[in-house]
Amino acid sequence: MRLLLFDIDGTLLLSGGAGSRALARAFLEVCGIEGAMEGVSCAGMTDPLIVETVFTRRAPHLLGDPGVEARVIEAYLAVMAEELAASPGFRLMPHVRPCLEALSVRPDVSLAVGTGNVHRGAALKLDRGGLARYFPVGGYGSDHRLRSGLLAAARLRAEAHYRRSFPPESIWVVGDTPQDVAGALDAGFVPVGVGAHAWDAASLRDAGARHVLDDLSGLCALLD
Ligand SMILES: [Mg+2]
Repeated sequence: MRLLLFDIDGTLLLSGGAGSRALARAFLEVCGIEGAMEGVSCAGMTDPLIVETVFTRRAPHLLGDPGVEARVIEAYLAVMAEELAASPGFRLMPHVRPCLEALSVRPDVSLAVGTGNVHRGAALKLDRGGLARYFPVGGYGSDHRLRSGLLAAARLRAEAHYRRSFPPESIWVVGDTPQDVAGALDAGFVPVGVGAHAWDAASLRDAGARHVLDDLSGLCALLD
């Protein structure tokens, strides 16, 4: 039995900038920071680290204030559904639905997410893409600031949900960035890179991915 932990952004779907727009609105509303997300790359980042990055650049006096970070995240979540619904660039990555459909009926595979999104943000994105039913549990940016930590949280939740243990070697972390690969290695899990978005397969292999795919069409074959 393998546990597959899927990253969301750039692996399962692209929000078309909805996440960045929602965060920019939140920083403006809560902290009065204009254009907070300009020049900030969210790829591979957890939501708490994105907030920390913006504070470091634009409002260092707010660093280390958990209250203001929580208010930014709350404000972000309050507008996220609206931004997702209005995002013309929202789309699923290639082959996502047939891949998940095939995986979901395999007796040798369990599914969960391992994403830097906070839990409610992840749920909104998966709902928008019609993918929520494949992922009963996960680890999230609201569990830990670091990917290795949220992946460990995903494992614990999956073990409770599926009522079995998943040894580290049985856990595949499917993601599109070198940060996904590094997080998997730090957690002791198996990194599987999908080079369909910002990074290509060669970059993900260089980062240490055990397996690399050009898109999700080859994932089932890799499991056989
Ligand atoms: Mg990603």
